[in-house]
Amino acid sequence: MAADPEALNRRAALAAYASETAACSRCRLAEGRTQVVFGVGDPDADLMFVGEAPGFHEDQQGFPFVGQAGKLLDKLLGGIGLTRENVYIANVIKCRPPGNRDPQPDEIEACERHLFRQLELIEPKLVATLGNFATKLLSGKPHGITRVHGRPQETTLGGRPITLYPLYHPAAALYTPAMLRTLEEDFRRIPELIAESMAPPAQVIQFPTVAPQAGMPSAEQLGLF
Ligand code: URA
Repeated sequence: MAADPEALNRRAALAAYASETAACSRCRLAEGRTQVVFGVGDPDADLMFVGEAPGFHEDQQGFPFVGQAGKLLDKLLGGIGLTRENVYIANVIKCRPPGNRDPQPDEIEACERHLFRQLELIEPKLVATLGNFATKLLSGKPHGITRVHGRPQETTLGGRPITLYPLYHPAAALYTPAMLRTLEEDFRRIPELIAESMAPPAQVIQFPTVAPQAGMPSAEQLGLF
């Protein structure tokens, strides 16, 4: 089968952007990192996950979600018949904050352009944000994850309409069984949301309007109202 040129271009553009980002020094996190953790998965994915920032293992290995939280993410993906090769996984922040502290506003401002470029290049249909941090940034709203998890929102990212689907962060669910059950339930809706986001928009059929003529039955007489 001939390779899809659009997919090849997307793959090449994303790889070029990853190489460029590997030398990023836009904020102080560059000083303490082992490497930039750009992202992993299928550049053509319809579903993209966005977490917060790399931790110790991600910084060491260069891939997002490879520690305990990542193992849970893999398990949750398996539960809906997917692997990490079928989706794309990235973080808002590409370099590990020292001691896993919260990223600072100026670090987010410096780094968010990388995530937005990834969204532009990958063009996912469904973006699942993992935890408060990614949810607040991508929804542009201050609502916490406890209130908005499991509720898809229509929004525009990277200049395109997408469905944003906020989920609890797997790291939080690791230690809270009730949160894990909720995360599993929210995950189960993902296949249906992907299918919906791929469906063409419903067509609005417009009937021509006819000016009423003398002798014509009214809409009420025709039983239309
Ligand atoms: N937590 C995140 O938000 N991202 C990772 O890559 C790992 C843990």
